[in-house]
Amino acid sequence: MTTLLSSSGSPAVEPIARLAEHGLPAEAVRAEIAALRAGDHDYRDGTVFNSICSSPVPLAAEVFTAALEVNRGDDRLFPSARQAEAAVGRMLGDLFDLPDACGVATSGGTEANLLAVQAAVLRWRRRHGDRGRPPVVLGAGAHFSFEKICRLLAVEPVVARLGPGYRVDPADVLRKIRPDTALVVLTAGTSETGAGDEIEAVAARAAELGVPVHVDAATGGFLIPFARRLGHDLPYCGFAVPGVISLTVDPHKYGGAPIPAGYLLFRHAEDRDALRTASHYRGTADHFGLLGTRPGAGMLAAYAALRHLGRAGYTAQAAELFALRDEFLARLADAGIAPAYRPDLTVVGFRDPDPEGLLAALAERGLIVSLARRLGLIRVVVHRHQRAGQLARLADTVAALRGRRKG
Ligand SMILES: *Cc1c(COP(=O)(O)O)cnc(C)c1O
Repeated sequence: MTTLLSSSGSPAVEPIARLAEHGLPAEAVRAEIAALRAGDHDYRDGTVFNSICSSPVPLAAEVFTAALEVNRGDDRLFPSARQAEAAVGRMLGDLFDLPDACGVATSGGTEANLLAVQAAVLRWRRRHGDRGRPPVVLGAGAHFSFEKICRLLAVEPVVARLGPGYRVDPADVLRKIRPDTALVVLTAGTSETGAGDEIEAVAARAAELGVPVHVDAATGGFLIPFARRLGHDLPYCGFAVPGVISLTVDPHKYGGAPIPAGYLLFRHAEDRDALRTASHYRGTADHFGLLGTRPGAGMLAAYAALRHLGRAGYTAQAAELFALRDEFLARLADAGIAPAYRPDLTVVGFRDPDPEGLLAALAERGLIVSLARRLGLIRVVVHRHQRAGQLARLADTVAALRGRRKG
């Protein structure tokens, strides 16, 4: 097999141009796959500081691998996946104070957010008819899945500005609500900064105005409830606040489950039922999500993670992550680097005079952090695949690179 050296210095397989007439022996294919994967990072190797996903807990990985053939789209063949989906829904409903949870398992936060907005659009159309674009108020920190969603569903985004700590400004959200607003989207832990919007301050008032609220807790869903239990002063996220009618949570972010595992919870069954597509086949379940053939392994593995960790396991994880974050912040402070905000969750952001240069210099040393382009922030995501020493090395490397530029 021929290998080339890619620009990153790792071996790359020669581009394949055709489907060969004769297949290769398994050993040869394995070697090609190994070459393809040689450039991949390993979460545990101390180089990954940009990822809100991590390696799954071992039990969830084991369950996933053993369930590769399970098609959630065919529950006559695989009733296990439907049962796992329902059980995950009830566990998540319990976590977010919605006892009779009604929901849909999804491929992740993007699909869950899409379905939440679609349910809101259907409600809006029943009241306002087929014409016009339903206005949806979102914070300037909302995830970029909403850009896709607004385009796909022909929704008019109305953007509310951010306040202190990159949380959305509640007063601006309320100002932007109009009598025909279809939905307000709040974020419990934004992807860029981890900021937790003040859901109670907005949702109760929005409910009085007759406008429902969707909470995007894709990132914060497995952190905020447990951090609050540990005494962290973070805004509540869940259904105990009137006005919250749907919530997105991603077991594949901080839930210990492998990709793909997302969930959308609805307060009202009729919102979910509005999304129903009847199956053409007798005995095969109707669809509520976007995907047809889809892995059942995701929900079986999410089930395993939730059952195995329990509330105590997630609380311990949150305690470890916040300790790691605080050690990292202290190390940065020692080097004279101040965070751009006091982080609500596990996402640390700081400014740099030359963020692109810093990102590239770190990448040259194999260290992957991100640059949040909308905010001009260097972004470091603390996750359970990291050790304190690895974060310390990152802080020291950043400090050395900045010192060199000054000198
Ligand atoms: C990750 C994320 C999403 C999108 O979820 P996917 O699982 O990547 O589709 C949406 N919102 C927030 C806040 C996220 O962090």
